[in-house]
Amino acid sequence: MSQTTTLTGGCLCGAVRYRADATATLPYMCHCSDCRRWGGGPAHYAIVVAAREVAIEGAPRVHVVTAESGREVARYFCGGCGGHLMTSPWPEATRYSLKAGTLDDPALYQPEHEIWVRSRVAWCDANPEAARHEAGFPGPVAIG
Ligand SMILES: [Zn+2]
Ligand SMILES: [Zn+2]
Repeated sequence: MSQTTTLTGGCLCGAVRYRADATATLPYMCHCSDCRRWGGGPAHYAIVVAAREVAIEGAPRVHVVTAESGREVARYFCGGCGGHLMTSPWPEATRYSLKAGTLDDPALYQPEHEIWVRSRVAWCDANPEAARHEAGFPGPVAIG
């Protein structure tokens, strides 16, 4: 029996909204330079959920980049307000990483992992509770 976590959120203007009824979640921070430059903050704060458990309303725009890992990553944002919403693997978007700051209730987020710690900027405090990984997740992500 699995417990479902309901996560709702959206962009600043409200043109794009999402709802996830997630049977599994993976809250994490990413310190990679791509996430930092895209988000304009010290790190990427997000929750991984399976794509099949997410409903998106509206039509986010997508920017696809090749990550340092060599894999393609899609970065979703609102074409109206420019707000960043989520990332996914590409072209197979089997899971989304919902940006924690877009949650209607950001208190639902508590990072359990920090990845790409070797790229962390000194002024971004680490979460002492989180497992820290020098590069990406040490094994395959079992969600999505
Ligand atoms: Zn918007
Ligand atoms: Zn990253």
